[in-house]
Amino acid sequence: MNTGYAVALIISAIASAVVAVASWRRRAAPGATSLAVATGAMSVWAATYALRWLSADPGVATFWLDATYFGVVVVPAAILTFALEFTSRSRLLTWRNLALIAVVPALTLIILWTDPLHGWFYGGHRTTGSILSGGPWFWVNAVYSYALLLVTLVLLAQSFVRTQALYRRQAGVALLGVSLPWLINIASLLGVSPVPDLDLTPMVFTATGWLIAFALFRYGMLDIVPMARDRLVEHMAEGVIVLDAHARIVDINPAAQELTGLTGDAIGRVACDALPDWCAHAEGHPVSEHAREATFEHVNDLVLEVRWAPLRDHGALTGNLITLRDITSRRRVEQALDRYRDDLERLTVTDELTGLANRRKAIQRLTEEFARFRRTGAPLSVMMLDLDHFKNVNDAHGHAVGDAVLVDIAERIRSTVRDYDLAARMGGEEFLVLAPSTDHDGAIGLAERIRLAIEQAPMAAGDTPLHVTASIGVTSAGPADDGIDPMLARADQALYEAKDAGRNAIRVR
Ligand code: GH3
Ligand code: MG
Ligand code: MG
Repeated sequence: MNTGYAVALIISAIASAVVAVASWRRRAAPGATSLAVATGAMSVWAATYALRWLSADPGVATFWLDATYFGVVVVPAAILTFALEFTSRSRLLTWRNLALIAVVPALTLIILWTDPLHGWFYGGHRTTGSILSGGPWFWVNAVYSYALLLVTLVLLAQSFVRTQALYRRQAGVALLGVSLPWLINIASLLGVSPVPDLDLTPMVFTATGWLIAFALFRYGMLDIVPMARDRLVEHMAEGVIVLDAHARIVDINPAAQELTGLTGDAIGRVACDALPDWCAHAEGHPVSEHAREATFEHVNDLVLEVRWAPLRDHGALTGNLITLRDITSRRRVEQALDRYRDDLERLTVTDELTGLANRRKAIQRLTEEFARFRRTGAPLSVMMLDLDHFKNVNDAHGHAVGDAVLVDIAERIRSTVRDYDLAARMGGEEFLVLAPSTDHDGAIGLAERIRLAIEQAPMAAGDTPLHVTASIGVTSAGPADDGIDPMLARADQALYEAKDAGRNAIRVR
């Protein structure tokens, strides 16, 4: 009997039971069910071993010692199935494979409890303290258990080496948990234990259970185990970058590496050093408190849609999950559509031949300017211009030369008017000039300059010098006008009078 040992073991049993219950509650997480079974078995092991140390009677003590094996044989097998799930090998956990794993443990229990009949398990080495040596089947079970633990160790070590930084801690903690029993148990088997008679293994396994639970639930972000994360994030088309609270890159998937031009070496670097452009965009706050999104242009000639999601632990900001999406081609299509729409809009208000505004645009602008005139009383003048005897030009030189003349006329009008005036081709060889903030006298002056610009030099059309003149009717908006129609009618009337006066003339109404 040793109450001190018993108390230590009862504490271990309770500690393992706590993990078992917690894991069972979270059994949706991969590996949690195996962990619950493993820690449950550890608890049985420690509790029965505690009962052994509370037994004064040697017969009762050996009974409880044998009973520890109900836990002992289950622990390595359950830790192995945990490791298989943790490293995304759950597909190996078929009923057939589970049964195969269970063969040796089941035989061990049978042979142990029937030992008095054949001695295969203890081989006469039975003691009441601990089972650290025995007959042939003791060694079969020992070798088998260590083989399972060795496989587990290799799986976790592999995962530790291969996994991305964020999950390396998780894999590392699990690896440490599984390594502990090796060290202590080997020490026990070699007989260099500090506590005579007591098998420390159940206590050590309690530590293992806690470390694995910590790895699974503390680091197990969103309960995604490392390999599952690898498959999900590594092969995602979307770029993913994880920043810690100090804006250091803790994870960057291949898609994000390609989009940013960084490599896996960027892990551990401060985001702003690794991506200077980036921090200009992030407005100096690379770790975002709030979910937000932005569009980054010219990152490697790409257009990226970037979204920040804050990561929090009990309310405290622990970092950012940043997703990057390449929207370059979408952006190009949008830009092309924008240009196309602009072109269409321009076409609807432009005269095709001369590039001046067309009738639609002239009416629209005149309506606007007339409204302003009504509002502010600022002067507004309009003139109608019609080429003289233009039919003759066509008849003598052909329609193409006529068109060239129209283009030249348009250019002369455009370069004579001011920027905020509007020159429009109303149709045929008729033009309209809209002159806002221009009173009657100003309009007459402008009409005269246009008439001269047309008259003074031969047209840039055909080989022979070709002189063309124009008649112009001018009018200004007056208080009696109730719309643009009276103005247009007056301008037409004035034009008619100019024609009547012998052409190449200006008339005002
Ligand atoms: P008027 O001095 O009385 O104005 O004589 P006009 O011959 O210019 O007569 P009108 O103003 O009726 O002009 C109509 C002519 O203008 C008919 C056509 O030959 C010519 N014309 C109209 N539109 C075009 C065009 O788009 N291109 C060409 N080349 N000629 C045009
Ligand atoms: Mg004419
Ligand atoms: Mg005409």
